[in-house]
Amino acid sequence: MNTNYIEELNESQCAAVTYNDGPSLVIAGAGSGKTRVLTYKIAYLLENGYQPWNILALTFTNKAAREMKERIARQVGMERARYLWMGTFHSVFSRILRAEAQHIGFTSQFTIYDSADSKSLIRSIIKEMGLDEKTYKPGMVQARISSAKNHLVSPTGYAANKEAYEGDMAAKVPALRDIYTRYWERCRQAGAMDFDDLLVYTYILFRDFPEVLVRYREQFRYVLVDEYQDTNYAQHSIVLQLTKENQRVCVVGDDAQSIYSFRGADIDNILYFTKVYPNTKVFKLEQNYRSTQTIVCAANSLIEKNERQIRKEVFSEKERGEPIGVFQAYSDVEEGDIVANKIAELRREHSYGYADFAILYRTNAQSRVFEEALRKRSMPYKIYGGLSFYQRKEIKDVIAYFRLVVNPNDEEAFKRIINYPARGIGDTTVGKIISAATENGVSLWAALCEPLSYGLNINKGTHGKLQGFRELIEGFMAGQADKNAYEIGTDIIRQSGIINDVCQDTSPENLSRKENIEELVNGMNDFCALRQEEGNPNISLTDFLSEIALLTDQDSDKADDGEKITLMTVHSAKGLEFKNVFVVGLEENLFPSGMAGDSPRALEEERRLFYVAITRAEEHCYISFAKTRFRYGKMEFGSPSRFLRDIDVNYLQLPHEVGVSRAVDEGAGRFRREIEGGFARTASPSRTPYGSNFSDRERPRAQVIAPSVPKNLKKVSAVSGSNAKPASAGSASVTGVQAGQMIEHERFGLGEVIKVEGTGDNAKATIHFKNAGDKQLLLRFARFKVI
Ligand code: ATP
Ligand code: MG
Repeated sequence: MNTNYIEELNESQCAAVTYNDGPSLVIAGAGSGKTRVLTYKIAYLLENGYQPWNILALTFTNKAAREMKERIARQVGMERARYLWMGTFHSVFSRILRAEAQHIGFTSQFTIYDSADSKSLIRSIIKEMGLDEKTYKPGMVQARISSAKNHLVSPTGYAANKEAYEGDMAAKVPALRDIYTRYWERCRQAGAMDFDDLLVYTYILFRDFPEVLVRYREQFRYVLVDEYQDTNYAQHSIVLQLTKENQRVCVVGDDAQSIYSFRGADIDNILYFTKVYPNTKVFKLEQNYRSTQTIVCAANSLIEKNERQIRKEVFSEKERGEPIGVFQAYSDVEEGDIVANKIAELRREHSYGYADFAILYRTNAQSRVFEEALRKRSMPYKIYGGLSFYQRKEIKDVIAYFRLVVNPNDEEAFKRIINYPARGIGDTTVGKIISAATENGVSLWAALCEPLSYGLNINKGTHGKLQGFRELIEGFMAGQADKNAYEIGTDIIRQSGIINDVCQDTSPENLSRKENIEELVNGMNDFCALRQEEGNPNISLTDFLSEIALLTDQDSDKADDGEKITLMTVHSAKGLEFKNVFVVGLEENLFPSGMAGDSPRALEEERRLFYVAITRAEEHCYISFAKTRFRYGKMEFGSPSRFLRDIDVNYLQLPHEVGVSRAVDEGAGRFRREIEGGFARTASPSRTPYGSNFSDRERPRAQVIAPSVPKNLKKVSAVSGSNAKPASAGSASVTGVQAGQMIEHERFGLGEVIKVEGTGDNAKATIHFKNAGDKQLLLRFARFKVI
């Protein structure tokens, strides 16, 4: 099992992997093997006496964690790799918090509020306090609270920061502090944590319960963090809590790829690292193994224009490659066509698969024209982000039932479904419940259960309706004892009346609502079956909710997503690589974003984002922009992004040379002059849905939940009103499996059996899947056939 580190790593990488005398920091440019170093380092530790559960590895997405685990499994075997503590900060910490919830006044069933829940709660608090929503915009307040939490500033500490604010913002601080205080308390009453709380409460847990900290410190003998440049103060502080004592910590990052400052990430964490751990050994990697020389040089010439950066040399020894093609389109629709045609052309010339292409954009809204262009040509694609499956109304309604059943104190879930489907409980009654609960400092559920004790002034009819609702939910709560997530989920969808409500209306939109709910049920069935296959028989509704609450926008790619073109924002492309990359929408006010305004800091972050985009490409990179674009319901005229001028023109192939567009003839000469000579900024920042002049602090939070239920699930008729019961999880069973056989799994596709162990109910097979890596599956539950 010994890995040949010398052969598979260069000298500096090898030194970083095998260094084990104290803290280490690997700081290096894109594509230089940072993630590879982390992966090999974990394998190295496992081969040198560390047990998998002693290693904590924190990544930026669940997908990155999964890929890393699979790669390590190939080196040390899945049997060991599966026990590694590996995942995003949020998923690892929520696991710890569920185990330790009682210390911090929660139960292990706590709800995770998503961004929409937290905004809705903030909006109702603003209303209850009689404040003006125009002055205290819920989105702005939410961003401020989030920023405070990411800096570990408590509600009481908030006002102390007053000097930090200028002008009319300073005047708003006392009210903001009061909103924050109420929000904090209401989340606690509801047994809910928002995403930032997952960090804040982990920090508090370790700070206030030293015996708990000691336990985790002893467990995590080595802590490793990828993409360290995008950690915020809270994350940095928790890493410090865990590793200050034993100094076994390795972080990797690239300051030039820090792109999450709007979520509180701080590049200085990297610089600060060597101060906090004075014995840090710093490793620099300079060779890029991902991209052609041209792509690396173009990216270097771009990032050079940033003032705030650690100067680094990055070079490539791969082939020189072609210049970066620049496409000018007349309109956004034409931009879609140009990109789709170019993909078809490259496929003809180089026999690339569809999965070798990615289209990266600055904002989710840009995806539509590319989807249309690809669909027209029957080219398969997968899209990440946008309005996620779990953000759709009907899905949120169902999930609210699940949440209330698991945690009846959940205020946002309660408000969402108390009168859905309609059961005659109007806004006035809900208003009374909220007032009674707030006055008595209890949850809405507590007030509903004991209306008399909490002075709820309602008539007999309303009382009956409220108790009816209570009995409905309590019935589901009782059912949890002997049913798995899928079974209780189907009960809820049927008995709550949701499915009747959705089936009543046969309009096309409603049909898609029904299909979405079916898709959710399929997803739950699949989730339970998968866990069963992996040896966990009892999957509760809490397990399912935890899983979906923490999916990030890269996570829709759960398993075999086949041969498809990838469409995603540049933010979600971080850490990934593709043979061919199209970076689109390079226009002023779009990329750089209009929200950056004239702020040099914000513009530098936008430039880093562009650097991230270009450095995803291995063989070909293209950049495009459109002269006109449909945005916010109207036609806008754009000018080429200033960033095009930042790239050394020697590495570009400009529009008139490739002759891609009918709009070129008129613009080619001017465009070349603009790029080479610099052009005045023509447009002022346009109005965005958030207003025109957002500073860094006020920028809205990124959406972090955007997965969709995998499409390759077979349809079941669980909720269509028929009596047909779907095949419940666990009905499958495979016999006569032997190493070396090829199999086809219902979900993971083609794979090869590596080994079979155990007998009877415990028989399991390790299978290497072509697209989903290594998996260990219990044959009793396995859903594949030998081919
Ligand atoms: P990013 O900054 O984008 O996250 P990174 O520094 O983490 O990039 P990796 O993703 O680890 O870089 O590596 C980039 C590519 O180069 C990967 O395909 C990786 O397998 C390959 N690679 C890295 N080091 C070597 C090496 N020594 N030999 C061969 N291939 C390598
Ligand atoms: Mg990486």
